[in-house]
Amino acid sequence: MVTVEEQFGIQLRVTTGLRTIDEQNRLYEQGRTTSGNIVTWVRGGYSYHNYGLAIDVIEIKDKKVNWDENVLIRISSVGIRNGFSWGGNWKKQKDYPHFEITFGYKASELLEKYNKGELDNEGYIIFD
Ligand SMILES: [Zn+2]
Repeated sequence: MVTVEEQFGIQLRVTTGLRTIDEQNRLYEQGRTTSGNIVTWVRGGYSYHNYGLAIDVIEIKDKKVNWDENVLIRISSVGIRNGFSWGGNWKKQKDYPHFEITFGYKASELLEKYNKGELDNEGYIIFD
């Protein structure tokens, strides 16, 4: 597995991994019924973050966050090669820091498993 650091000399940090459904619902309200900018387009249960299947990354350069999205565009091929779908390829509302692995499941299917309690001891979905 080639890493972003090996290929580009870029160091990434994961800023978000697992986000609970409650956290997702609170985030969805941001910019709608609570203050702040809109940062998500889906309610709780419809983000792959809710199942630990998505990460958001950012470059750390000289010990500071580099918000330049061009870096994320550059490194996206590494994530894609490692099996992730990239939010920068979404048709609407591109999400450059976002990478996810769906294992072929729609979020609605994962939510159904969640609601049926098909979870392991740590709260992760049990796949068939
Ligand atoms: Zn994300």
